[in-house]
Amino acid sequence: MENKDDIRLLDSKQLEEFFVGENQKKFRVNQVFDWLWNKGVDSFSQMSNLSDNLRNVLDKNFVLKKPIEIKSYRSTDGTIKYSIKLYDKNYIEAVLIPTGKRVTACISSQAGCSLDCKFCATSRLIRKRNLFFYEIFDQLFYLNEQSKFYFNRKISNIVFMGMGEPLLNHKNVVKAIKKMKMENGLNFSARKITISTSGIPKGIKQIADENLNCNLAVSLHSAIQKTRQIIMPFSDKFPLEDLIESLKYWYTVTKKKILYEYIIFDGINDNIEHIDALIKICKILPSKVNFIEYNPIGDETFRQCKVEKLRLYQKYLSSEGIVNTFRVSRGRDIKAACGQLINSNKEIL
Ligand code: SAH
Repeated sequence: MENKDDIRLLDSKQLEEFFVGENQKKFRVNQVFDWLWNKGVDSFSQMSNLSDNLRNVLDKNFVLKKPIEIKSYRSTDGTIKYSIKLYDKNYIEAVLIPTGKRVTACISSQAGCSLDCKFCATSRLIRKRNLFFYEIFDQLFYLNEQSKFYFNRKISNIVFMGMGEPLLNHKNVVKAIKKMKMENGLNFSARKITISTSGIPKGIKQIADENLNCNLAVSLHSAIQKTRQIIMPFSDKFPLEDLIESLKYWYTVTKKKILYEYIIFDGINDNIEHIDALIKICKILPSKVNFIEYNPIGDETFRQCKVEKLRLYQKYLSSEGIVNTFRVSRGRDIKAACGQLINSNKEIL
């Protein structure tokens, strides 16, 4: 690719300055922004209300780094996974999940992942790079078009639960969310956006300060540091006390409940000691728990707990007034479920 930047790296002021330097009218910025963030065009030639001259100027100075190729895979349960080849040939995946009246877009924030959650297949990939905010936005834009086409409705919810750790790329995630919220663009409501983090305290404080109004989910999986460190080794650098302290900050600033994501693994965290520890943590701040079904990733170390253990967790949590739900896995047959995103279909692209 030529050595030009994506035009979307420029904010409206910077683009205005560029236009002035090129003897172009400032008001053209609004038109260009409409093409970029509302209509989601792939090239400057599609910007049909601009003069040929202006389109040439844009073409000479900038590019649009859109995906090279997108392939889709459809699950028997209706879930659709998109394998996206980025302009630099890195791959990411995004998933469209229809449920009742909702269509949820699960999007990626990094190509690969730098964390080492032992139960997650994505962690076996190396982290290739952070996604630019426009690449995060492009996933949503594309999935929204697909959602309208296949399900006759726009995306209702967005979850940052695809590849990567969003809070290790928080600047681009924040910028992407701001673009998704733009009134003269997709006008997406931040209340329907959930950032899922494996628990990066500094990142949690940083997004609290952004005043985005989106939700926060924390992949807890164990409220006992010793166990958490075994299944999520990186967490030795981010102990539970620091995580809790950052969540207190999050709640003070945003007044938003925390959603704890929790897989109950057979023989690992399915005992009463773990239940007690979870209850204790849940009582610190307004929160709820989402039990996630474990999706096998071809490793015998981890198995979904027996159903009685799930019932026990639910009984104890409910008796303490802690709201909890169980999330059934979607799209397993096409490797689109949580923890299964590893670009496994790229060889057939
Ligand atoms: N890095 C972020 C977001 C990506 S993972 C995070 O860790 O939150 C989205 C969710 O899937 C997380 O809660 C993660 O812990 C969970 N997950 C990972 N592997 C899984 C598996 N094999 N089965 C079920 N959930 C899994």
